[in-house]
Amino acid sequence: MTSLTASHAADLVAALLFILSLAGLSQHRTARAGVVYGIAGMALALVATIVVAAQSITAGAVALIVLAMALGAAMGLWRARRVEMTQMPELIAVLHSFVGLAAVLVGWNSYLEVEVHGTAQTRIGADLLGIHHAEVFIGIFIGAVTFTGSIVAFLKLSARIKSRPLMLPGKNALNVGALAAFAVLTVWFTISPNLPLMIAVTALALALGWHLVASIGGGDMPVVVSMLNSYSGWAAAAAGFLLDNNLLIVTGALVGSSGAYLSYIMCKAMNRSFLSVIAGGFGIEALTGGGEEQGEHREVRAAEAAEMLAQARSVIITPGYGMAVAQAQHPVAELTRRLRDRGVEVRFGVHPVAGRLPGHMNVLLAEAKVPYDIVLEMDEINDDFADTSVVLVIGANDTVNPAATEDPSSPIAGMPVLRVWEAEQVIVFKRSMASGYAGVQNPLFFRENSSMLFGDAKQSVEEILGVLGLDGGPGAAPAARQTTAAGR
Ligand code: NDP
Repeated sequence: MTSLTASHAADLVAALLFILSLAGLSQHRTARAGVVYGIAGMALALVATIVVAAQSITAGAVALIVLAMALGAAMGLWRARRVEMTQMPELIAVLHSFVGLAAVLVGWNSYLEVEVHGTAQTRIGADLLGIHHAEVFIGIFIGAVTFTGSIVAFLKLSARIKSRPLMLPGKNALNVGALAAFAVLTVWFTISPNLPLMIAVTALALALGWHLVASIGGGDMPVVVSMLNSYSGWAAAAAGFLLDNNLLIVTGALVGSSGAYLSYIMCKAMNRSFLSVIAGGFGIEALTGGGEEQGEHREVRAAEAAEMLAQARSVIITPGYGMAVAQAQHPVAELTRRLRDRGVEVRFGVHPVAGRLPGHMNVLLAEAKVPYDIVLEMDEINDDFADTSVVLVIGANDTVNPAATEDPSSPIAGMPVLRVWEAEQVIVFKRSMASGYAGVQNPLFFRENSSMLFGDAKQSVEEILGVLGLDGGPGAAPAARQTTAAGR
């Protein structure tokens, strides 16, 4: 078998492994196997690519490739070991920006290669030159949009810039104008390729990527992250056409289509228009629901919260980003266990975009060994709040904000939320009156049946556990035991 057919076979096997990987990642139980398939596919693809490349380039160039891979692998391992779960989305955004940048560089390189060598020394036949020019342009455009869009997403997710939408006058016209300009430039470049047009399309796409993501409000960022994932896939596929690499085309298409589908599912879950979000908030007017306070709030201490829980018949816990920051999942799981031992019905209500990653809360609760059957999706539990004694809102904010359903001028208007305020009592665990990710104040905090339990969520739950001391375990305060005993 020649090395070329061997490499085609390797490409095919790697593509199958990537498909198995995606299938595995779609379920908790098979997720680990999915990761292993992905690693195996990528390792195979890298080896096959290097073996084929080694036949047409010098030993020095192969050494450079191996050096670059070793450096990249070392940096990747270092970051992966250090990154906190709460920083994953921003890391993913940065990684998407690399894919975009790589697609831009491949496009530029492919243009310069044809410029310098003509078609004679390249793989491109003279009759296919027009298609090649269009590929270069489209690849650079998608790559540059992905590059700057991902950088803005990174800056917003890591709170280095404000998450509020940028509202330039005529922003929709700017986006549509940029797309129209791209179409005109592509036709022009295909007919008469030249350097100024290359520079123009790169600058145009960089500006469009920046503006598209800057125009999207914090609440819609989950969709944007998955859209950028999709764009990075299409950018990789475009690079695959330019490099004549089938595996890159297949892999790019897999990432592109699965990212687009995930964005679509998230839009449906958040009641957002898919087209509006991918077009940079097209049609969304400047909604300025403020971060200002809206009345008096009531505070409780851990002992009072413990008393409410001791009297409760049923409890629903709605975790959010703050539970992840505080790493409160283990004491929350312990609280669940102790309350259930007392005969209290305890369930969890998980919002589809709680935290900073799809499935973020499910991962944390599974890690703390909370039984799957008491962790319910928003739609499964929303009708049950009205019949619940106490809701514990642990580090959640936007996902329990009544303004989403009651205030049409709110930036998160229309987003489905957990209707926690319908319960008899709501206890909100957070450190201050600060707003959540979307930068919107939460009227829940000022409702008559709401109480704020200020402090780090982990510490607050541990204090409640200490006061409750239901099983007489370590940390059960003697006074609390008496209270609890009296309560029984
Ligand atoms: P939010 O981000 O709305 O609010 C989290 C709250 O946690 C804050 O108000 C903060 O208040 C509190 N908090 C932070 N640290 C602690 C701590 N140590 N102890 C106690 N409380 C703490 O969270 P939600 O999960 O409700 O909403 C998620 C938001 O993130 C949505 O707007 C969603 O659109 C967005 N998003 C989601 C993504 C996803 O895929 N899931 C991706 C990107 C964005 P304080 O500072 O006062 O303590």
